[in-house]
Amino acid sequence: MTETTTQSEGRPSLPMEGIPQPTREEVLNLPRVYISSHPVMAHKMTALRDKNTQPPEFYRLVKEIGALLAYEATQNLALEPAPIETPMAPMVGQRLAGGIGVTPILRAGLGLAEAFREVIPDIQVWHLGLRRDENTLQAMEYYNRLPHQVDLQVAYAIDPMLATGGSAIDAINILKLRGIPRLSYVCIIAAPYGLLKLSQTHPDIDIYVAALDESLNDVGYIMPGLGDAGDRQFGTF
Ligand code: URA
Repeated sequence: MTETTTQSEGRPSLPMEGIPQPTREEVLNLPRVYISSHPVMAHKMTALRDKNTQPPEFYRLVKEIGALLAYEATQNLALEPAPIETPMAPMVGQRLAGGIGVTPILRAGLGLAEAFREVIPDIQVWHLGLRRDENTLQAMEYYNRLPHQVDLQVAYAIDPMLATGGSAIDAINILKLRGIPRLSYVCIIAAPYGLLKLSQTHPDIDIYVAALDESLNDVGYIMPGLGDAGDRQFGTF
């Protein structure tokens, strides 16, 4: 995704300056996009966004919101029969069929990865470092611990903020090369612009979102958003 970087009068333009953006209403009903409407989620989101929420509490909220998202995003996972004996009788229970992977986009995705591990402890965590160039907003890979041998039923790319969509699209491109049968993307806040780009580029994945915001500002931050999700989790202001 290449955006304008210079203006006719010579001043370097800001990466999202003058770029048309869709409205919330235009992206509300995209196929395979699931936006949470749960009141507990809305309650936690307000605390998360509040500028007075300090990093320890912010990180705790990311994990709580992440657990709710993990619960929603895993609702259609495949099961297989699992014969067991209870203290009372034999029975056939159910187990998740096949492995589950989660790819946190570093570093802001780390809190969400912890949340997924709490919901599904034997999940595999594949770290992926994508940094965005502050001038062009292009995503650049700097770290990749994806295994070569893959036997998963699904992998989730996770990152709290879906802003321009550049990192999200790249992460899904990278995961697609691994031949995983099903891919999903999970974020806490999405901007209409990034959500539309991701959905149009990868119409074959499910996208789970806790809240859909209004727009991106000129430098690509989500409005009203919550600021920098990495800095707020890790106290690096
Ligand atoms: N990344 C963030 O941390 N916040 C934004 O608003 C956009 C991208």
